[in-house]
Amino acid sequence: EAKDRGGNVALLYDQEMYQRLAQRLVLESEIKDAIKFKQFSLSLQPQIELSTGRLAGFEALLRWQHPVRGTVTPDEFIGILENSPQMIELGYWVFQRSFQLAKELIGKGYPDIRISINLSAEQFLDPALPALLELWLDDLGLSAQHFELELTERTLVQNIDITLSAMRQLKAQGFYFSIDDFGTGYSSLSYLKQMPVDIIKIDKSFIFGMLENDADYQIIISTIAMVQKLELKVVAEGVENRAQLQLLKQHRCDFGQGYYFARPLNEAQLAEFLEHKVPNGYLMLT
Ligand code: C2E
Ligand code: MG
Ligand code: MG
Ligand code: MG
Repeated sequence: EAKDRGGNVALLYDQEMYQRLAQRLVLESEIKDAIKFKQFSLSLQPQIELSTGRLAGFEALLRWQHPVRGTVTPDEFIGILENSPQMIELGYWVFQRSFQLAKELIGKGYPDIRISINLSAEQFLDPALPALLELWLDDLGLSAQHFELELTERTLVQNIDITLSAMRQLKAQGFYFSIDDFGTGYSSLSYLKQMPVDIIKIDKSFIFGMLENDADYQIIISTIAMVQKLELKVVAEGVENRAQLQLLKQHRCDFGQGYYFARPLNEAQLAEFLEHKVPNGYLMLT
């Protein structure tokens, strides 16, 4: 009987593995077309300085407009593309597009704008990364100071030596670094000491719970206090309502990002947002 069950589990496991592999092969080949046929876009989600309401920048979030499947969210394909050459290629596309968007925003009268870019682990293992970024920045006449590279605690622990040396090189070029989804991965407190990190992004799961769950609340306020003592900056992700905003402000959280301010915006929505929601660069909250 036990053997039966074991057999079934193995079968199920094989099927899942098979499905995952098949899905991955399809996605890998589709992604080549997707880049070629311009099915990808970046949506920009505003980041607001909480003490002033100033629009500090945007996080660039990948969107895939699949001809048959419709909008595919990054959580549905980034995990599957992990460790594939397509992920590197897609990552480079994200950089180039983010650079163009920054250039446009600067041209529209946002000279200090900053765009945050998500990187996956394998991008750091690519030795060509720093030189290519330098080249593309030069082409557009842009400074690296306009860009923040987001990595997760998971990325940090994967290839610590290579990641660290890539980070140091990119830091020397002028890029900022943030740790994304802070608090959900492996303990990163020791990394904070050795890594050239500028910003901590508190994971949205803590913000979602902060009004009802005392543990979430305590984690948030102690993270903010620690970040301030280390003289870094802190961003709260997933701010969805006014009560969360008030509490975060009270504890002097530097920046907020979330549906309360704005959802990730496509090109048309971005133009609308800039024109109507942020006159003079400051967000009007209703
Ligand atoms: P992330 O970097 O933590 O991005 C924040 C996610 O939270 C985004 O989901 C955003 O839409 C969502 N979000 C923001 N504010 C709120 C809120 O108030 N409420 C709720 N419920 N959600 C909120 P999205 O766009 O689906 O992206 C998911 C993840 O995919 C990202 O998480 C990031 O890890 C990854 N990702 C996105 N773009 C890229 C990319 O260009 N490269 C890589 N490597 N990963 C990316
Ligand atoms: Mg992010
Ligand atoms: Mg996050
Ligand atoms: Mg994430």
